[in-house]
Amino acid sequence: LSKKMKKSIEKNMQKSTLTAENIQDTLKEIRLALLESDVNVDVVKELIAKIKEKAEGGYIQEGVKANQQMVKIVHDELIEILGKENSPLELSKKPSVIMMVGLQGSGKTTTANKLAHLVRKKNSKNPLLVGLDIYRPGAIEQLVELGQKNNISVFEKGKQDPIITAKQALEFAEQNGHDVIILDTAGRLQIDEKLMNELNELRKNTSPSETLLVVDGMIGQEIINVTNEFNRLLKLTGVIVTKLDGDARGGATLSITYMTKLPIKFIGEGEGVSSLSPFYPKRMSDRILGMGDIETLYEKAVENIDERSMQKTMKRMFMGQYDMEDLRNQLAQVAKMGNIGGLLKMMPGAGKISEDQVNDAQRKLVIFSIIMDSMTLKERRDPRLLKAITRKNRIIRGSGRSEKEFNELINNFDKGKKQVMEMTKMMKSGRMPQFGGRGFG
Ligand code: GDP
Ligand code: MG
Repeated sequence: LSKKMKKSIEKNMQKSTLTAENIQDTLKEIRLALLESDVNVDVVKELIAKIKEKAEGGYIQEGVKANQQMVKIVHDELIEILGKENSPLELSKKPSVIMMVGLQGSGKTTTANKLAHLVRKKNSKNPLLVGLDIYRPGAIEQLVELGQKNNISVFEKGKQDPIITAKQALEFAEQNGHDVIILDTAGRLQIDEKLMNELNELRKNTSPSETLLVVDGMIGQEIINVTNEFNRLLKLTGVIVTKLDGDARGGATLSITYMTKLPIKFIGEGEGVSSLSPFYPKRMSDRILGMGDIETLYEKAVENIDERSMQKTMKRMFMGQYDMEDLRNQLAQVAKMGNIGGLLKMMPGAGKISEDQVNDAQRKLVIFSIIMDSMTLKERRDPRLLKAITRKNRIIRGSGRSEKEFNELINNFDKGKKQVMEMTKMMKSGRMPQFGGRGFG
């Protein structure tokens, strides 16, 4: 999804306004991309309709490029569907019972262990795992093994009736100071009545604070039916989506929250005990879009770019009048947007920018600004004056920087000016170049 969507949105990069045509083009691509990533077809349909409405309905921020507007609209819509905020675990009862339910192989046992590890570490709880899957061969042994490995207590009574075992576990927990009790229940390959009756009986006898469905994020469209069925019969309090490791796109999370309105509380991203993360809608939206932290970037851009001053600089550039005063204004705009490293990292495709490059750019931004501050306005307007050795020496002394740094600034300015002149030529010949991003460095 991410690559495709990114490409489609970037296709409109040069255009500065949303038009019926580029909205339609982008929507087509987004629709395809969502479908490819296994998002339910009804979800895609409604999502596209909503995005279209917003894009056409004047959801337009002046001075922000069309592609950014489109991304912002899609991003906001995804967050809305994914639930806006993280939904935390309900752990206020003493003890709190968490019942894990789900189909066989969805990841209940593994996730029960991860969750115990997490509440111990993050919530300073003393968890007890309870093995109640008496059907799947080796299921209880698996839980005991995981518990031993991670130093978490496991309560089990072999093949004894799970209802009785659960009641005994509650007593055991009270006697031994366990304040979170995690029930690892049995699954089936498919939902059946016998399983649901047993789970309901368990629920009545343990009054869980949380009944969490564990679903495999890779099972495709079935995920909605499974979630709906479990919810109908057991009144779930939330969902944990597993196997969203590495490259998995997370389309499943969108389908679940949209179709069932249940909160996703965690996602599993690997087999290890630490690979369970709280679910953050904003992050998932970023991940689905594959574009870094777009929202923050967008907000910073809107807040901080002084549109008039940018336009003035653009106009001057167009007239071929780029001087050091313009460079200074541009650097001030960049500085206003905050830490340049953070800024560069928020950009799509930022992965390629090394820490060294970021530091170097940040350092130059500061040094160049200091040196230019030591010039007179006249010097900045007419950098040819800087060739005079007395002026040069005065500025170097005044700024407290070295001659090498001064020369570096002049070289950068000359390079920048040359680029501006080339750009101007292109603009005048009718081709709009992409503006921004390469002012210095
Ligand atoms: P259960 O039948 O629902 O108890 O499922 P298990 O906990 O036994 O998990 C089934 C398989 O899925 C095991 O091999 C787990 O290691 C694996 N698994 C569970 N969660 C994840 C996950 O988030 N990522 C990956 N890659 N594997 C997982
Ligand atoms: Mg199991």
